Amino acid sequence: MSFHQISATFATHIHNMEKNLFKIVFRLVCAGIFILTNVAPISGKDFTVVIDAGHGGHDPGAIGKISKEKNINLNVALQLGKNIQKNCKDVKVIYTRKTDVFIPLNRRAEIANEAKADLFISIHTNSVAQGKIVRGAETFTLGLARSEANLEIAKRENSVILIEDDYKQRYAGFNPNSSESYIMFEFIQDKHMEQSVKLAKLVQGQFRNHAKRIDRGVHQAGFLVLRATTMPSVLVELGYISTPDEERYLNSQEGINKLAEGIYRAFLKYKEEHEKPILAAAGKYSDKSVNTEAAPESNEPVIASNAKQTGIKTVESASASTTNSKPVFKIQILTSSKPLKSNDKELKGLSPVNYYKENGIYKYTYGESTDYNKILQMKNSIINKFKDAFIIAFRDGEKTDVRKAIAEFKKTRK
Ligand SMILES: [Zn+2]
Repeated sequence: MSFHQISATFATHIHNMEKNLFKIVFRLVCAGIFILTNVAPISGKDFTVVIDAGHGGHDPGAIGKISKEKNINLNVALQLGKNIQKNCKDVKVIYTRKTDVFIPLNRRAEIANEAKADLFISIHTNSVAQGKIVRGAETFTLGLARSEANLEIAKRENSVILIEDDYKQRYAGFNPNSSESYIMFEFIQDKHMEQSVKLAKLVQGQFRNHAKRIDRGVHQAGFLVLRATTMPSVLVELGYISTPDEERYLNSQEGINKLAEGIYRAFLKYKEEHEKPILAAAGKYSDKSVNTEAAPESNEPVIASNAKQTGIKTVESASASTTNSKPVFKIQILTSSKPLKSNDKELKGLSPVNYYKENGIYKYTYGESTDYNKILQMKNSIINKFKDAFIIAFRDGEKTDVRKAIAEFKKTRK
């Protein structure tokens, strides 16, 4: 071995070490990202939507002349998520995929179930056999297909399980290509059917009126991915990749934007409905039930101790924050890195306001009640001034999971 060889070997060795080091760092970064994206942060978000871009990786979905379904789905999914995140600070957006990767069908549903999502939106692009021309968008909910064409769409979308390992065990012998397999969808009890159909109709309305697409309507079919989710769920077919003009539209920035906006607007409308007051089982909502049961033994109120020094007025001093372990709802209106004076123009004249401190940030709230409905009404009354306002919950002075608090409120109202 010459000196030249030795130095070359040494150089290779160093190079490999660098590569290994790079790999290790890369894995650590990936693990970090994984943890960051998979551990639900403690947040005041009170609505979670899972956006599912169909197919990905070695599953291209339907294939057109100039594009693949997986990419169209992902483009619209990402744009939809962007729209929601930009405009709805109270909504948590979770994607089943943000890149071109393969995700098994069941895993997509699991992601939504584990996140206890409020809504699942699966995005796909349609296709028919060569020689046929079909145009338009349609939205599906889970159920028994009432037409051969709809059954064919479910078969095509479900057949992706055939490229998963162990699909027979995983889907209990379901054969996506056999019509007999779909009989089970006749007996499915879907308690979210009504809400799913509501969203599906809203989506189609937006596709028709906003995106100016041909409206192919709302249908039911036996989609495995919808069967496995435990929340209102829809599967959107954006258009036909097999029809050249539709394929061009689906790949254009205008097409992506309009379709994503359409779903976004439908989502907003649906969410507004979702936020309607929670009715007691009796079906009546009386304002009298509003938080008159504030505990007499007034403990530490939720307000920060230096509130007075900063000139912030507190909510009525016999605060409702002390209703032993009952969740207290408030509206978070804004955050600030420094305390604000009660006449600060950021507060837009709203009074009385309050604040709590979290991670060194002053978070300003308005309203306080154990009655979620009352707080919701209050939120609606200030939303013009504070469009990003959202509801949060406290228990015994500590911030708590608002979704659990709402669930508890619902239960105790029955
Ligand atoms: Zn698809």
